[in-house]
Amino acid sequence: MKAYIGLGSNLGNRKENIQKAVGMLEKSPGIRVVKLSPFYETEPVGDVPQGKFINAVAEVYTALFPPGLLAVCRNIENALGRVRTVKWGPRTIDLDVLLYGEDIIQTAELTVPHPLMHEREFVLRPLSDIAPDAYHPVLKKTVQEILEGLHENH
Ligand code: ATP
Ligand code: CA
Ligand code: CA
Repeated sequence: MKAYIGLGSNLGNRKENIQKAVGMLEKSPGIRVVKLSPFYETEPVGDVPQGKFINAVAEVYTALFPPGLLAVCRNIENALGRVRTVKWGPRTIDLDVLLYGEDIIQTAELTVPHPLMHEREFVLRPLSDIAPDAYHPVLKKTVQEILEGLHENH
């Protein structure tokens, strides 16, 4: 299955954190990283004062089911020293499952497509760089269409 993982970091060596996370994804059994977007420096969202992020998106081919993919993401976050403090607070690394093929998943642990991806330029921009035609099965639009729509509203 083709899936997209969003990566973000705003603590420590941000680029290196993302590169390490991608390396760990690549080394995980059942995951192959096939594309990596450019890195973007982005302003933090939400009310917590904190430093700028670096964001990127990876395209992976995976033999794992969604819960397995999420578990790998969490393990990588933990291995790179992410500490959960405040919601939407600073973090060494964040990995979100953005899209899993065109599946729609709604469980206590996992919502895919990621519930806020369509509002976030810091997700849509790098995703559109590597996969403009990736399809959002809830909005029934491509990533490029969603990104273009975002601009019209601003
Ligand atoms: P946001 O979801 O707004 O980007 P966040 O990434 O800061 O916020 P986290 O604290 O990293 O939120 O994650 C909270 C929980 O979200 C995770 O424990 C996980 O179970 C759940 N979750 C639901 N859907 C997803 C998804 N598509 N990708 C990653 N985590 C998800
Ligand atoms: Ca996130
Ligand atoms: Ca997350």
